[in-house]
Amino acid sequence: MYDLIIIGSGPAGLSAAVYGKRAGFRTLVLEKNPMSGGQVLNTYEVDNYLGMPGMNGFDMGMQFREHADRMGAEFEEADVTGIAVEGDKRIVKTRQRDFEAKAIIIATGAAHRKLEVPGEERLAGRGISYCATCDGAFFRNKTAAVIGGGDVAVEDAIFLARVCEKVYVVHRREELRAARILQERLFELPNVELVWNSTVNEILGNEQVSGISIHNRKDGQDRTLSVDGVFIAVGIVPNAEVFLDVVDADQGGYLAAGEDCATSVPGVFAAGDVRTKKLRQIVTAVADGANAVASVQEYNNLSNH
Ligand code: NAP
Repeated sequence: MYDLIIIGSGPAGLSAAVYGKRAGFRTLVLEKNPMSGGQVLNTYEVDNYLGMPGMNGFDMGMQFREHADRMGAEFEEADVTGIAVEGDKRIVKTRQRDFEAKAIIIATGAAHRKLEVPGEERLAGRGISYCATCDGAFFRNKTAAVIGGGDVAVEDAIFLARVCEKVYVVHRREELRAARILQERLFELPNVELVWNSTVNEILGNEQVSGISIHNRKDGQDRTLSVDGVFIAVGIVPNAEVFLDVVDADQGGYLAAGEDCATSVPGVFAAGDVRTKKLRQIVTAVADGANAVASVQEYNNLSNH
C-alpha cells in the first residue's frame, strides 16, 4: 500500500510527487501516456513561468519529470478507470490492476474541447488538429485557420505564422480573450488575418480539409475560407469523468475543491486544471501540487489520532 497515489503527471502531478517525497511518503504517480508533462509538452514556448522565460514546453515537461525522478517518486503507466473508498483505503482502479493508498491526488488535467460542427470528426487528422506545435509543420507554406480567441488560439496562431504562408484567426466575438501581450504580438504579424464575430458552420473537404464555411454573426452572411488546415483551440474540458461517481463536481464538470485541493471525499484531493479554479496556468498547477500534499499531511495527522 502506498502512502500517496497521484493520478496524472502534468505540472500539478509532478509537483505533488516532489512534495510527496519530501514529506516522506511512498509515492506512486500513475500516468496514462508514456511521457510526463501533460499539456505543457505541446506548448512551443512558455513565457510566463517565473525564472524560465521563453522556455520550450517540451523541455520544461522533461525537467519537471526529471525532478520528480530525482526525488525518488515511482511511476507506472496505467489507464485509470475510477476510484473507490474502503475504510481508510483509497483504491485506484485501472485497466491494468487496482492500486491502494492512504490518500489520492487527482491531477488528470484537461483535454481539448471539440468544436462540434459537421466535418470535424470525419476530417480529424486530415487537416484538423488540436495542437499547433505538434502538427504545424505539416502546413509549411500553406494556409491555416485557428478557431478560438483564448491564450491557446493566439499562441497557436503566432506559432503557425512562422510556418504557414497565411493564418486566419476566426473568433466568435470582436475582442480576444487572450492575454494582452499575446494579442500585441499577434496583431504585429503581417500574415495573420483576424476574422471577427464569426463562427464555423462546417469544415469542408473530401479526403483532406479544403476550407471552412463561416457565419458572420453581425451581418448574418456566410462565406467560405479556403484553408489547408484547421487548428481548433476553443478551450478545455476537465478529465474528470471517471471520478464523478465518487467525487463531487462543479457546474462545469471540474472536481469541486478549493485552494486546499480537498474534494468532497476525505483522503481524495484534486490538483491542477481538473479542479475548480479561476486561473489555469502552469504556475497555479504547480502550486496546487504543493497545497494538495500539505492537505494530505493534515489529513494523515487527523486520521492517525
Ligand atoms: P479559453 O481561455 O477558455 O478560451 C477559449 C476560446 O475559445 C475563447 O476565446 C472562446 O470564445 C472560444 N470558444 C469557446 N467555445 C467556442 C465555440 N463553441 N465556438 C467558437 N469559439 C469558442 O481556453 P484556452 O485558450 O484553451 O486556454 C485554457 C486555459 O489555459 C486558460 O485558462 C488559459 O488562460 C490557460 N493558458 C494560459 C497560457 C499562458 O498563460 N501562456 C497558455 C495556454 C493556456 P469567448 O472568448 O467568446 O468565450
